[in-house]
Amino acid sequence: MRAGLSPEIRKQVRPSVEHLDAYDPGFVPAKIVLSANENTHGMPKAVHQKVMDAITQVPTNRYPDPLANKLRAAIAEWQGVKPEEVLVSNGGDESLFNLVLAYGGADHLTVNVSPTFSVYELYARMVECPVVTIERDPETFDVEIDQVAQAAKDASLVILCSPNNPTGNTIRQADVARVCEACTGLVLVDEAYIEFADAGVSAQPLLEDYDNLIILHTLSKAYCLAGGRVGYLLANEQILEALEAVRQPYSVNAFSQAAALTVVENREAFQPAIEDIKGERDQLIETLNDIEGIRTWPSQANFFCLRTDQAHQVWETLHDTYSILVRDFSVAPGLQDCLRISVGTHEEDEALVAALREIVG
Ligand SMILES: *Cc1c(COP(=O)(O)O)cnc(C)c1O
Repeated sequence: MRAGLSPEIRKQVRPSVEHLDAYDPGFVPAKIVLSANENTHGMPKAVHQKVMDAITQVPTNRYPDPLANKLRAAIAEWQGVKPEEVLVSNGGDESLFNLVLAYGGADHLTVNVSPTFSVYELYARMVECPVVTIERDPETFDVEIDQVAQAAKDASLVILCSPNNPTGNTIRQADVARVCEACTGLVLVDEAYIEFADAGVSAQPLLEDYDNLIILHTLSKAYCLAGGRVGYLLANEQILEALEAVRQPYSVNAFSQAAALTVVENREAFQPAIEDIKGERDQLIETLNDIEGIRTWPSQANFFCLRTDQAHQVWETLHDTYSILVRDFSVAPGLQDCLRISVGTHEEDEALVAALREIVG
């Protein structure tokens, strides 16, 4: 935990920053890292080599293409949209920030569906957006759609995460449509983990019907490029134009553009590992749920949530005794005694199960 800003600095910062804590990924070194929802299988070797080769060709003395047009065209073709309907960013995180920067502000309400990715609220508060929080069902983590649709009426931005981080569940297409209809502002569906979900889960087909819908994807998770920082938005051209105006022109560096283009061109090579992770996930959730004292939730992502008594101590023992790092949400609102665990390789998952059997069982 951070101590917070000193009183002197507190007087100097922008008022909205006074009480903000920096985002803390909760990383401490461990042999088995299952804490950040990365693709634990790593990039296919042949693709990794191609990425490295592409990077060596990048001229370092020239600025990158601000809009990453080659990459943008490749993504557009992949996703079946026009290049103008794609905006590439320095990780999905940059897009999340630029969205509230362009569309938020003091009288611009953001609707957040909690528990969810904490970054949404952090960024919204940073730019003085009032945040209306709609709680999920405390048992199932389902979105309370009537409440969200009601709150959406006055919102500049509604943020829906599907599959939701950290609970792993999704929102139905029909519910997204309902929010788009209710909302006079924009509706963002953050699909950072969509590649791990069942076919038909994505809200992307709704882009054709709703011009206030924005979809976020990233290459950080399924496509093994968390270190490269490349994400993208899909939305209508007019929405993206405002984001182009607020973004830092060179936010996506030339190395990352080259790496991401290679990844997108070789995306089929990632599919076997994605399928493997989905299988591992379902197996792991079932196996752990059978341990007395552990409750797991189903997940459509490459991570899942579990609840167990004394979760913080379990987290600590996992780390200190077994060198397994997971994410501790045990004191987060709505997530009491919950841990979030990324799916590992088969060996890592076996080690996790064995450790949890000893600790909890
Ligand atoms: C990881 C993640 C992102 C984006 O991550 P980037 O690495 O910045 O692309 C966005 N939303 C959620 C919910 C995430 O978990």
